Formats: sequence, C-alpha cells, structure tokens
Amino acid sequence: MAQIIDGKAFAAKVRGQVADHVAQLRADHGIKPGLAVVLVGEDPASQVYVKSKGKMTVEVGMTSVEHRLPADTPEDTLLSLIAELNADADIHGILVQLPLPDHLDSDLVINSIDPAKDVDGFHISNVGLLGTGQDAMVPCTPLGCLMMLRDYHGSLSGMDAVVVGRSNIVGKPMAQLLLGDSCTVTIAHSRTKDLAAVVKRADIVVAAVGRAEMVPGDWIKPGATVIDVGINRIPAPEKGEGKTRLVGDVHYESCAEVAGAITPVPGGVGPMTIACLLANTLTACCRANGLPAPE
Ligand code: NDP
Repeated sequence: MAQIIDGKAFAAKVRGQVADHVAQLRADHGIKPGLAVVLVGEDPASQVYVKSKGKMTVEVGMTSVEHRLPADTPEDTLLSLIAELNADADIHGILVQLPLPDHLDSDLVINSIDPAKDVDGFHISNVGLLGTGQDAMVPCTPLGCLMMLRDYHGSLSGMDAVVVGRSNIVGKPMAQLLLGDSCTVTIAHSRTKDLAAVVKRADIVVAAVGRAEMVPGDWIKPGATVIDVGINRIPAPEKGEGKTRLVGDVHYESCAEVAGAITPVPGGVGPMTIACLLANTLTACCRANGLPAPE
C-alpha cells in the first residue's frame, strides 16, 4: 500500500511557521500582514472557501478583510475596490475569489491587482515571471503540491511527471514548477491520445481534471507518487438519503494499491492551498517592507 502524504499535517506545520514569522515581524518591526479577500455573488463553495481562508488568516496573526459584493456588482465598482486595496498600505495580499459572475471579465479584474499583492499568482506579470524562472508570486494550489513532492522525494530532478489538466490556475503553473525542479514534464488534457499509457510512464502524476475518480489504479506505474488535486462531491447513499462525500480525480483505493505515495481527498492538496496563500501573503508583506522573505 502507498504511503499517505498527509497534507493536513503538513499544512498545519506551514501555518505554524507562518505564524511564528508573523509574530517576529510584529515584535521586531511593528508590521502586521493583511490579506483582503473579495467575493462577488453567492456561490456556496466560494463562500465556504472564503470563510475558512478568513479564519486561518486571523489564526496566524494577520489582518483579514473580507469584501462581499452582490452578484450584479458592476465591473467599475469592483475595479474601484481593487484600486483602493492596491493603494492601502495595510493590505499586502489581494485575492479575488473565482469564478466571477459571467458579466465580469476575470482577466481584466485579475490583471488590475497590483502584481506585488497578487497572492494567487494569477496576474499576467506573475505568470510571465514563473514561466521565465524568475521570482514570482506562485499560484497556491500547485505550490502546495510542489512542497509536498519536495518534502517526500527531496530532489525531483530527472523524474517523469505527468500533469493531467491544463488550466491556468492548476495544470499549467504545476507543469512550470515541475520543470523548474528539472522534471521531464508532460501536460495531458481532454484531447490527449491514450491517456492511460501517458499516465503509466509517470514517476509523478498530478491529477487536476475535475472528474470524480477518473484515474484508476491500473493507469499508475508501480511506486509512482500520485497527487490528487480534484475536489468532487458525489452522492453517498451509504451515509443516508441525500448525503454526499468528497472524492478526488483519482480512484483512491485502487491507486493506493499500486502507488508509492498518494495524497488523500480530503486532507491532501486542499489544506496546503490555504497554507500557501498565507505564506504568499507573508512574502508579499516582507517584500513591501524591504525585508527578506522567508525561504
Ligand atoms: P478546469 O476545469 O479549469 O480544468 C480541467 C482540465 O482537465 C482541463 O485542462 C481539461 O482539458 C482537463 N480534462 C477534462 N476532462 C478530461 C479528460 N477526460 N481527460 C483528460 N483531461 C481532461 O479545472 P481546474 O484546473 O480549475 O480544477 C481541477 C480540479 O482541481 C477540480 O476538481 C477542482 O475542484 C480542483 N481544485 C482543487 C483545488 C484545491 O485547493 N485542492 C484548487 C483548485 C482546483 P481541456 O483543457 O482540454 O478542456
């Protein structure tokens, strides 16, 4: 059976390190990092994420500011709010919760955030910096995956990595990070031919597809490391009528029989995403104040 990579425990450790650094910043320099989260509309999943981000931001000693705007907020109003946050010296990180309602241009909104405060790493400047191997704000979910891989393997140099999914928020930045760590990287997607064979040659599989339990155990090379980014809610009649449960994009039971290591869902990638958001906010705060950012 595969070793379980405990993202929940690892994330708690990262948040503890962030909290220590925040306490030091306050003691030595009187600085308190601040994170502003902007939520437009009432998407239930987004509301849950924003609530838990706010709670953990406060727990590590940072200021958490939430702006909840109605679903029909005009684009100008949202852009004015972002301009205010860009100019606010007490706010070091700005996160606009995606997806935005259809009438808003997500690219325009994200690119209006000051790149130095873009703790999600989605601004085109940060995408370019990451793509060219320069110091960037790195998207939180792939950064969390990379940290778990480095922690488990040490060096990733020369390993074959397959990323299934090519989204701008997970798949593409994940591939860039793995390339940066000298993996041989393949990005697979919905048009990939013989996906099973592509996945089978990987030492590292990162699944970011959004399809419940799509990757079965017989696609996995024995001993490979499987990172499951997917969060899918499926019916769980065994828990009672109308009940649901969370599963990933890989079929956990069959993959765990073959893999060398695997992240569970829940308790794998998810908690690391918020921990990395807090780490990015700390980094942004240090840079804004001309202080060295934590490693
Ligand atoms: P997107 O829907 O933006 O992208 C999905 C990708 O999967 C696309 O590139 C798509 O290919 C590819 N894909 C879809 N179907 C197949 C298929 N049958 N075979 C191969 N590839 C396929 O999703 P995200 O990247 O935003 O999210 C992926 C998953 O990760 C979701 O479950 C999401 O909930 C989860 N997630 C989890 C986070 C966390 O904190 N743990 C954070 C962010 C996301 P194509 O481009 O060709 O359409």
